[in-house]
Amino acid sequence: MKDYTDERLNMVDSQLVRRGIKDKRVLDAMSKVPRHLFVPPEVTSVAYTDQPLSIGESQTISQPYMVALMSECLELRGGEKILEMGTGSGYQTAILAELGFSVYTIERIITLSVRAQRTLKHLGYENIKFNVGDGTLGWPENAPYDGIMVTAGAPKISQVLIDQLSEGGRIVLPVGNSFSQELVVVSKINGKIKTKNICGCMFVPLIGKHGWNKEKKYY
Ligand code: SAM
Repeated sequence: MKDYTDERLNMVDSQLVRRGIKDKRVLDAMSKVPRHLFVPPEVTSVAYTDQPLSIGESQTISQPYMVALMSECLELRGGEKILEMGTGSGYQTAILAELGFSVYTIERIITLSVRAQRTLKHLGYENIKFNVGDGTLGWPENAPYDGIMVTAGAPKISQVLIDQLSEGGRIVLPVGNSFSQELVVVSKINGKIKTKNICGCMFVPLIGKHGWNKEKKYY
Protein backbone atom coordinates (compact mmCIF):
# COMPACT_ATOMS: atom_id res chain seq x y z
CA MET A 1 0.00 0.00 0.00
CA LYS A 2 1.31 3.47 -0.96
CA ASP A 3 2.65 5.39 2.08
CA TYR A 4 2.51 8.93 0.54
CA THR A 5 5.87 9.95 2.10
CA ASP A 6 6.84 12.08 -0.91
CA GLU A 7 3.48 13.87 -0.96
CA ARG A 8 3.69 14.49 2.80
CA LEU A 9 7.21 15.95 2.71
CA ASN A 10 6.30 18.06 -0.30
CA MET A 11 3.25 19.37 1.59
CA VAL A 12 5.45 20.37 4.54
CA ASP A 13 7.92 22.18 2.32
CA SER A 14 5.61 23.86 -0.18
CA GLN A 15 2.59 24.64 2.03
CA LEU A 16 4.06 25.10 5.51
CA VAL A 17 7.74 26.12 5.43
CA ARG A 18 7.27 28.47 2.48
CA ARG A 19 4.30 30.13 4.21
CA GLY A 20 6.28 30.78 7.39
CA ILE A 21 5.60 27.88 9.77
CA LYS A 22 8.83 27.77 11.81
CA ASP A 23 8.22 25.51 14.81
CA LYS A 24 10.38 22.48 14.04
CA ARG A 25 8.31 20.23 16.27
CA VAL A 26 5.15 21.13 14.35
CA LEU A 27 6.94 20.55 11.02
CA ASP A 28 8.22 17.18 12.27
CA ALA A 29 4.75 16.12 13.41
CA MET A 30 3.21 17.16 10.08
CA SER A 31 5.98 15.20 8.29
CA LYS A 32 5.12 12.11 10.25
CA VAL A 33 1.33 11.83 10.63
CA PRO A 34 -0.24 9.98 7.67
CA ARG A 35 -3.00 12.45 6.71
CA HIS A 36 -4.22 10.11 3.95
CA LEU A 37 -5.46 7.67 6.62
CA PHE A 38 -7.79 10.33 8.10
CA VAL A 39 -9.76 11.07 4.91
CA PRO A 40 -12.46 9.02 3.15
CA PRO A 41 -11.07 6.53 0.58
CA GLU A 42 -12.43 8.49 -2.39
CA VAL A 43 -10.16 11.47 -1.57
CA THR A 44 -7.04 9.60 -0.41
CA SER A 45 -5.13 10.63 -3.54
CA VAL A 46 -5.65 14.36 -2.77
CA ALA A 47 -5.14 14.11 1.01
CA TYR A 48 -1.96 16.25 0.90
CA THR A 49 -3.27 19.02 -1.33
CA ASP A 50 -3.61 22.58 -0.08
CA GLN A 51 -7.28 22.49 0.94
CA PRO A 52 -9.80 21.27 3.50
CA LEU A 53 -11.59 18.06 2.44
CA SER A 54 -15.02 16.63 3.16
CA ILE A 55 -15.10 13.87 5.80
CA GLY A 56 -18.87 13.25 5.69
CA GLU A 57 -21.68 14.53 7.98
CA SER A 58 -21.19 17.96 6.27
CA GLN A 59 -17.86 18.35 8.12
CA THR A 60 -14.28 18.83 6.96
CA ILE A 61 -10.68 17.98 7.77
CA SER A 62 -8.90 21.35 7.91
CA GLN A 63 -6.34 22.54 5.36
CA PRO A 64 -2.82 21.36 6.35
CA TYR A 65 -1.56 24.95 6.73
CA MET A 66 -4.36 25.79 9.18
CA VAL A 67 -3.59 22.67 11.27
CA ALA A 68 0.09 23.65 11.44
CA LEU A 69 -0.61 27.33 12.15
CA MET A 70 -3.07 26.58 14.97
CA SER A 71 -0.63 24.08 16.50
CA GLU A 72 2.21 26.60 16.32
CA CYS A 73 0.02 29.29 17.89
CA LEU A 74 -0.35 27.23 21.08
CA GLU A 75 3.37 27.97 21.74
CA LEU A 76 3.75 24.98 24.05
CA ARG A 77 6.68 22.61 24.56
CA GLY A 78 5.11 19.17 24.96
CA GLY A 79 3.89 17.42 28.10
CA GLU A 80 1.06 19.93 28.61
CA LYS A 81 -2.67 19.23 28.76
CA ILE A 82 -4.73 20.31 25.77
CA LEU A 83 -8.50 20.47 25.20
CA GLU A 84 -9.55 20.14 21.55
CA MET A 85 -13.06 20.99 20.45
CA GLY A 86 -14.10 19.28 17.21
CA THR A 87 -12.31 15.93 16.84
CA GLY A 88 -13.59 15.58 13.25
CA SER A 89 -11.34 13.13 11.42
CA GLY A 90 -8.86 13.04 14.31
CA TYR A 91 -6.01 14.45 12.18
CA GLN A 92 -5.42 17.59 14.28
CA THR A 93 -5.76 15.36 17.37
CA ALA A 94 -2.94 13.17 16.03
CA ILE A 95 -0.71 16.21 15.46
CA LEU A 96 -1.33 17.37 19.04
CA ALA A 97 -0.61 13.87 20.38
CA GLU A 98 2.53 13.70 18.23
CA LEU A 99 3.66 16.99 19.82
CA GLY A 100 3.62 15.17 23.15
CA PHE A 101 0.51 16.73 24.68
CA SER A 102 -2.10 14.92 26.75
CA VAL A 103 -5.10 15.51 24.53
CA TYR A 104 -8.74 15.73 25.63
CA THR A 105 -10.88 15.91 22.50
CA ILE A 106 -14.64 16.44 22.13
CA GLU A 107 -16.81 15.84 19.04
CA ARG A 108 -20.57 16.35 18.84
CA ILE A 109 -21.17 13.85 15.97
CA ILE A 110 -20.80 10.30 17.25
CA THR A 111 -20.02 8.66 13.88
CA LEU A 112 -17.05 11.00 13.38
CA SER A 113 -15.76 10.42 16.91
CA VAL A 114 -15.99 6.63 16.54
CA ARG A 115 -14.14 6.73 13.20
CA ALA A 116 -11.45 9.04 14.59
CA GLN A 117 -11.01 6.83 17.65
CA ARG A 118 -10.52 3.81 15.40
CA THR A 119 -7.93 5.58 13.22
CA LEU A 120 -5.97 6.98 16.17
CA LYS A 121 -5.98 3.63 17.99
CA HIS A 122 -4.79 1.88 14.84
CA LEU A 123 -1.88 4.35 14.67
CA GLY A 124 -0.98 3.61 18.29
CA TYR A 125 -1.75 6.97 19.97
CA GLU A 126 -2.40 6.47 23.68
CA ASN A 127 -2.30 9.96 25.19
CA ILE A 128 -5.81 10.90 23.96
CA LYS A 129 -9.14 10.93 25.84
CA PHE A 130 -12.35 11.13 23.78
CA ASN A 131 -15.72 12.63 24.60
CA VAL A 132 -18.88 12.80 22.49
CA GLY A 133 -21.02 15.85 23.25
CA ASP A 134 -21.18 19.62 23.24
CA GLY A 135 -17.61 20.89 23.40
CA THR A 136 -18.76 24.46 24.05
CA LEU A 137 -19.26 23.35 27.66
CA GLY A 138 -15.58 22.37 27.80
CA TRP A 139 -14.59 19.34 29.86
CA PRO A 140 -14.58 20.75 33.41
CA GLU A 141 -13.65 17.46 35.12
CA ASN A 142 -10.12 17.64 33.68
CA ALA A 143 -9.63 21.43 33.73
CA PRO A 144 -7.55 23.52 33.80
CA TYR A 145 -5.90 23.07 30.37
CA ASP A 146 -2.61 24.61 29.26
CA GLY A 147 -4.04 25.01 25.78
CA ILE A 148 -7.50 24.94 24.22
CA MET A 149 -7.96 24.53 20.48
CA VAL A 150 -11.35 25.09 18.85
CA THR A 151 -11.50 23.69 15.31
CA ALA A 152 -14.95 25.06 14.39
CA GLY A 153 -16.06 28.68 13.94
CA ALA A 154 -17.28 30.24 17.21
CA PRO A 155 -19.55 33.30 17.49
CA LYS A 156 -17.53 34.64 20.45
CA ILE A 157 -14.73 33.92 22.93
CA SER A 158 -16.64 32.06 25.60
CA GLN A 159 -16.09 32.67 29.32
CA VAL A 160 -16.60 28.92 29.89
CA LEU A 161 -13.36 28.21 28.02
CA ILE A 162 -11.49 31.08 29.68
CA ASP A 163 -12.47 29.61 33.06
CA GLN A 164 -11.03 26.20 32.05
CA LEU A 165 -7.70 27.68 30.87
CA SER A 166 -4.58 27.63 33.09
CA GLU A 167 -2.74 30.78 34.02
CA GLY A 168 -0.29 31.40 31.16
CA GLY A 169 -2.31 29.17 28.81
CA ARG A 170 -3.62 29.93 25.32
CA ILE A 171 -6.88 29.37 23.45
CA VAL A 172 -6.64 29.21 19.64
CA LEU A 173 -9.97 29.60 17.87
CA PRO A 174 -11.73 30.98 14.79
CA VAL A 175 -14.24 33.70 15.73
CA GLY A 176 -16.82 35.28 13.43
CA ASN A 177 -19.76 34.20 11.30
CA SER A 178 -20.14 31.93 8.28
CA PHE A 179 -18.91 34.69 5.92
CA SER A 180 -15.84 35.85 7.73
CA GLN A 181 -13.85 34.53 10.67
CA GLU A 182 -10.60 35.54 12.27
CA LEU A 183 -8.15 33.12 13.83
CA VAL A 184 -7.61 34.49 17.34
CA VAL A 185 -5.13 33.59 20.09
CA VAL A 186 -6.36 34.31 23.61
CA SER A 187 -3.74 34.37 26.40
CA LYS A 188 -4.42 34.38 30.14
CA ILE A 189 -1.79 36.48 31.90
CA ASN A 190 -2.12 37.27 35.62
CA GLY A 191 -5.81 36.39 35.35
CA LYS A 192 -6.32 38.92 32.53
CA ILE A 193 -7.15 38.09 28.93
CA LYS A 194 -5.13 39.31 25.97
CA THR A 195 -6.22 38.60 22.39
CA LYS A 196 -4.22 38.60 19.19
CA ASN A 197 -5.69 38.31 15.69
CA ILE A 198 -3.66 36.03 13.44
CA CYS A 199 -5.41 35.86 10.03
CA GLY A 200 -8.73 35.42 8.28
CA CYS A 201 -10.05 31.86 8.01
CA MET A 202 -13.10 29.76 7.16
CA PHE A 203 -14.41 26.93 9.37
CA VAL A 204 -17.66 24.97 9.74
CA PRO A 205 -19.79 26.33 12.63
CA LEU A 206 -19.30 25.44 16.28
CA ILE A 207 -22.77 24.27 17.27
CA GLY A 208 -23.79 24.14 20.91
CA LYS A 209 -24.93 25.96 24.03
CA HIS A 210 -22.14 28.57 23.82
CA GLY A 211 -21.79 28.34 20.04
CA TRP A 212 -24.29 28.63 17.19
CA ASN A 213 -27.85 27.33 17.40
CA LYS A 214 -28.34 24.50 14.91
CA GLU A 215 -32.13 24.95 14.64
CA LYS A 216 -32.04 28.72 14.08
CA LYS A 217 -29.13 28.42 11.62
CA TYR A 218 -28.20 32.10 11.90
CA TYR A 219 -24.55 31.34 11.37
N1 SAM B 1 -9.84 19.10 13.60
C1 SAM B 1 -10.62 18.30 12.69
C2 SAM B 1 -9.77 17.42 11.82
O1 SAM B 1 -8.54 17.48 11.89
O2 SAM B 1 -10.35 16.64 11.05
C3 SAM B 1 -11.52 19.13 11.83
C4 SAM B 1 -12.65 19.64 12.57
S1 SAM B 1 -14.00 20.19 11.59
C5 SAM B 1 -13.39 21.60 10.79
C6 SAM B 1 -14.99 20.83 12.93
C7 SAM B 1 -15.58 19.76 13.82
O3 SAM B 1 -16.18 20.40 14.94
C8 SAM B 1 -16.67 18.94 13.14
O4 SAM B 1 -16.37 17.59 13.22
C9 SAM B 1 -17.92 19.29 13.97
O5 SAM B 1 -18.84 18.22 14.08
C10 SAM B 1 -17.30 19.65 15.29
N2 SAM B 1 -18.14 20.46 16.18
C11 SAM B 1 -18.95 21.49 15.88
N3 SAM B 1 -19.52 21.96 17.00
C12 SAM B 1 -19.06 21.20 18.03
C13 SAM B 1 -19.27 21.20 19.45
N4 SAM B 1 -20.09 22.07 20.06
N5 SAM B 1 -18.63 20.28 20.19
C14 SAM B 1 -17.80 19.39 19.61
N6 SAM B 1 -17.55 19.33 18.29
C15 SAM B 1 -18.17 20.24 17.51
